[in-house]
Amino acid sequence: MTETTFDVLNPATGQLIERVADGTVQDATEAVHAAAAAFASWAVTPARMRAEILRRCYDLMVRDTDALACLIATENGKSVQDARAEVTYAAEFFRWFSEEAVRGEGTYGDAPGGGAKTLVTHVPVGVAALITPWNFPAAMATRKIAPALAAGCTVVLKPAEETPLTALALARLLQEAGVPEGVVNVVPTTDAPSVVSAWLKDERVRKISFTGSTGVGRILMRQAADRIVNASMELGGNAPFVITADADIDEAVAGAMIAKFRGGGQACTAANRFYVHEDVIDEFVEKFSAAVEALEVGPSSNHENQIGPVISQKARAGIAELVKTAIADGARVAVQGTVPDTGWFYPPTVLVDVPVRAHILSKEIFGPVAPIVSWTDEAEMLKSANDTEFGLAAYVYAGRLQDALRIAEQLDAGMVGINRGIISDPSAPFGGIKQSGIGREGAHEGIREYQETRYFSVDWS
Ligand code: NAD
Repeated sequence: MTETTFDVLNPATGQLIERVADGTVQDATEAVHAAAAAFASWAVTPARMRAEILRRCYDLMVRDTDALACLIATENGKSVQDARAEVTYAAEFFRWFSEEAVRGEGTYGDAPGGGAKTLVTHVPVGVAALITPWNFPAAMATRKIAPALAAGCTVVLKPAEETPLTALALARLLQEAGVPEGVVNVVPTTDAPSVVSAWLKDERVRKISFTGSTGVGRILMRQAADRIVNASMELGGNAPFVITADADIDEAVAGAMIAKFRGGGQACTAANRFYVHEDVIDEFVEKFSAAVEALEVGPSSNHENQIGPVISQKARAGIAELVKTAIADGARVAVQGTVPDTGWFYPPTVLVDVPVRAHILSKEIFGPVAPIVSWTDEAEMLKSANDTEFGLAAYVYAGRLQDALRIAEQLDAGMVGINRGIISDPSAPFGGIKQSGIGREGAHEGIREYQETRYFSVDWS
């Protein structure tokens, strides 16, 4: 392993947390050697045994919740409350896929023309390359590792450069749970393009599962095309949050606070644009603004704080620029909180009178800024809500379920929260349509992303 290291910084203070080995292409290739060597035995390890190891991973994550939450909060900057919620969510993928691992279903059927039987089965795809972002350093890793291991695959994982410590802590925990050597290999690096393209060129790597921005997803799909590598993509979002005239506004405010401000707005499922019916917009803005003003902003070292910094100076500058364009487009700042002097904090902000064509509505804000648009005509509102290349998440608050469902069905999104501000659930298929991705994580579908379907045609004459 390389002796060169890179610094992992706390975004709330800019201070060094730890130095981590900076993985090279050679390290990446060695990780594939290890994963390929371990694949032969892991793939044929009885599913029950794999399931029990995954279940122990769940138990150990639950045991270590406090320590993992502190680590996530320190390297990512999110509040300790959000980090604890992430650990719980992340651990659930191990429990869920320990249960899925033993449901190795296939089919046995008759060819309609007679004379043959058809046996269908599912086999692990092989060594999988997993690439994760910084915004959920634990959950994005377990959402991939758990189904991969349940299917019988071995993995090489490249965590985001900003948050490698959580992935390394998870790797130690997996070892303690009994995951055999070589099954999970973590390679932190500051040179993601070289490491990942080395994996995509390596004929032993048969799968890539990527979570991150749509732009990087495109690059990796192009590279995967060269060897027809099986690719799953969980990409960017631009979620509309729709409120109808008869919605319960207190409930909508509570949902909006979670959908917008969890992780400081740095979630792919974060509400990015609020479409509020004209009849209720004043009430919503008043109550929502009051809730936003009450948010405690500051470093996660104070466990009472609810909003931390954004991930970097660059991210903060990007958010500030988007707010500037919104104001130039005619938006007005209804509320803007205050933030500490040090660290990459951006104040929670509510923007009102945002024109439907405002530039900010077309971008993934990835920060604690809530632009609010007023609507009266449902068809027009839906057209605006769907006017984006993204299609990951959406939210609808409505008084009548049939109205909520009618709107939800017409929103171009892989996932819609109905009278709920949170949609992530390990037992449900997470993923996007349009340019938000290909494939699903979690649910029964999640394990299929790491399997090939094979069939045997048996002479029955
Ligand atoms: P990013 O695309 O910049 O980085 C994601 C990962 O890709 C990181 O590990 C990074 O090191 C790596 N990477 C960057 N450039 C690369 C390259 N050229 N070749 C190979 N690897 C490369 O995204 P980010 O800023 O870390 O995360 C934010 C984005 O992720 C947002 O767009 C967000 O919506 C998306 N996201 C999506 C989901 C989802 O499930 N759909 C979940 C979380 C985040």
